[in-house]
Formats: sequence, C-alpha cells, structure tokens
Amino acid sequence: MPYLALLPVVLLALLQAIWPEHALYLALPFPAVAFAAMALVALVAVLMRQTEWLYWLAVLGGHYWATQNGLQRPLAEPEVAALQQVLPLLVSCMLLGLAVLPRPDLPSVPGLLLLVACLLLPPSLLLLPLADWLSASGLPSALFERPINSIFLSWAHLWWMSAWFFLWLALVSYRPQDPAAWGHFGTWLAIMLFYLFMDRPAASGWTTLAASLVLLITLAYRMLHLAYMDELTGLPQRRALQGRLRRLGRDSAVTMLDVDHFKSFNDTWGHDVGDQVLRLLGTILDRQRGMQAFRYGGEEFTLVFAHAQKKVIKEALEAVRSEVENYPLQLRRDDRPDDHEDGRQHRGHGSKAETVTVTISLGCALRQPGEDPEALLKRADEALYKAKKAGRNTVVMAR
Ligand code: GH3
Ligand code: MG
Ligand code: MG
Repeated sequence: MPYLALLPVVLLALLQAIWPEHALYLALPFPAVAFAAMALVALVAVLMRQTEWLYWLAVLGGHYWATQNGLQRPLAEPEVAALQQVLPLLVSCMLLGLAVLPRPDLPSVPGLLLLVACLLLPPSLLLLPLADWLSASGLPSALFERPINSIFLSWAHLWWMSAWFFLWLALVSYRPQDPAAWGHFGTWLAIMLFYLFMDRPAASGWTTLAASLVLLITLAYRMLHLAYMDELTGLPQRRALQGRLRRLGRDSAVTMLDVDHFKSFNDTWGHDVGDQVLRLLGTILDRQRGMQAFRYGGEEFTLVFAHAQKKVIKEALEAVRSEVENYPLQLRRDDRPDDHEDGRQHRGHGSKAETVTVTISLGCALRQPGEDPEALLKRADEALYKAKKAGRNTVVMAR
C-alpha cells in the first residue's frame, strides 16, 4: 500500500484546516523540527543506500530555504510577490523532471551536480530580478490577479495546481505499486499545501515536515519491498513465505509448483525468454483468487491456501495448470537465439515458432492436525516430486 505515504500530508493538512490552534502548537519547535526531519531522511537514505531519494530531499530543502528567506518578508515587496508566483512552478517542474527523467547515480560527478542544482535552484530565484522580468514579460495579468486566500492563491493558481494534481494522479495510476511515484506525488502535494496555508504561522515548517515524513514512509516502504518482494516476478519471496507460514491457520494447505524442463527451455530460448516466462507466471499466479503466491526460488513457486477443502483446492490448481499450459507466450523476433541449433529448428516451423508454451507440475499437501509448517512444505515437495515422476504437467495431492 504505497499510497499510505500520503498520510502525513493529509493528516497535517486536515489539522491545519480544522484545528489550526493545535496545528500551531504542533508547529512551535520549527524550524528545528523541519531541519531534523530532513536530516533524518538523508541519514536513512544514505544508510540504506537509497541515495536517489537525496534528490527529492534537495528540492525540498531548496524550497524550504527559499521560503524561509524570501517569502517571510512582507508581501508588498514586489520581489516577494514575484517569487511567490514562480517558485511553486519551478519546484513542480523539478519534481516532475525527477519523477520521469533518468537520474544519474549517487555518488558520481553528474549526480553531485544534479544534487547541488536541486538544492540551489529554488533559492537562486531570490537573486534574480523576477519582478522586473514578470512585469516586462507581458504575461497575462492572471498571474497577478487578486489572491483569493488573501495571500497567494488566485484562480489561475488553482487552475494550474489542479492540472498538476491530475498529472500526478495519472503518473501514480500508471505505476500504482511504485513507492517512488507516491513519494514524488506526496512531496509535491506537501509543497503545494504551503501555498494554500501560507497565511498561517509556521506553514513552511509543517509542510516541510509533512514532505519529510512522506519521504521517510516511501523509503521504509521501498526497503520493505526490497526485503520481501521478488524483483523479477513481482511476487513476495521466500522471506515473506516464512512469515506467512508462521501465521498458518489450522485449516490450510500448501502447494509447491515447478516449471517443467525449464533448464532445456532456457538452453533453447535463452535466459531472457526464461525470465519472461517466470514474469508471466508471476502475473498468472498473482491474479488467482483464494490463494497466495510466493516465489520460492529459481523456477519454483509456493501457493498458500487458508482453508483445507481438498476438492476446491484441486480444482483451483488444475485451473492454474491448464491456464499456464494454454498460455501462448509471444516471442519477439530478437528473442530467438540465432546461433542455437534448437533456435534454427524452431524457426523452421514458420510463424508457429513465434509462440511457445510451458507446463508446470504441482504438489499439494493439506495441513494435518499439529503439523508444523516445515513438515507440511516437505510433504508438498514430495507430492511435487510424484507429479514430476508421473510425467509432469500434472497436479498431485498428497495422501
Ligand atoms: P524439471 O521438469 O524436472 O523441473 O526439470 P527442470 O529443467 O525444470 O529442473 P531443474 O531444477 O534441473 O532446472 C531448473 C532450471 O531453472 C535451471 C535454471 O537454469 C533455471 N532457472 C532458475 N532460476 C531462473 C531464473 O531466475 N531465470 C531463468 N531464466 N532461469 C532460471
Ligand atoms: Mg526446480
Ligand atoms: Mg523445473
């Protein structure tokens, strides 16, 4: 649930909107808290070697720097008014750039340059004669429209902020499982809230705190993901399975699943195509209802059922077996090995050679009273062995 990263922003915004006296109380120790929160995120990101989070942090720090210095002065100053118009747009563009463009690794010279640019770009607006440029530019007067929240927001701002909001929503719905996408969205949301609430005391402090918490949650979620999820198939992996087995109920069942003749499949079609098969298998297993799939390792998967109805389980496993057997895997032309004898053989089959199929064998064991999970898994493995001996592409239920 990577969208939980938005929680601090939503909670702090609600607090500001509904209960401002309390929000102010929460915000009293600023700016020390904002700095401490950002330092904590930086520390965790470096310790966990997730250094690309430092780019977002730098944008956040740069924005905080600019708002602390520039926007705390009286609004009547044309420089401050101009900064208010340009800064949110600049920061939005920077965050979007970080979200969609490739980023250099850290530490490296291009990475460090980007990091410094992220940090310095927002406050560097303070050095530019923005007010002169804006008034000389002939830009629509909407930018200077009378604000509707007495300080910043004009209808023009609301329009473009809504457009950005939907742009971010589109980005996260494109990759809903990607914590980074939610982290970008949450950071942007927190920064924009500053402009909504900037007439309140300590607004830049609490919005920076909210954004730092977003980054922290995103980082934690990413680490959890790395530890428990398999990158190739997108399924939870063995460590997660062990956790699940510890919570196994009295009525439950475990199935071991193994791809048939996968070694020769790899030899024939290449490891890349083999990986494609495992990814596809991950997708098929993930969408099955009534069971939870894990990648056990290599080309072996484990399915956990939270009930022990033999007939239902057998039918479900047969359905999976048949779905995999009948799933035509489309090969791109460049997937076919040119120099391999089997590759040539397959090409000789004309257009049919463009699709391949694999089969799987499954062995299932229902939990017996008092049986520990290791013993259950072992029985499922023995059933799988029987399925292999019985000619593969089959389901065997233990006893
Ligand atoms: P069987 O029907 O008896 O299961 O035969 P098999 O060839 O599938 O069995 P075996 O366990 O000997 O081979 C497993 C193969 O799975 C070996 C390895 O090349 C392949 N494999 C394991 N992990 C991966 C992976 O992540 N990607 C790819 N492409 N292949 C993998
Ligand atoms: Mg195997
Ligand atoms: Mg195998």
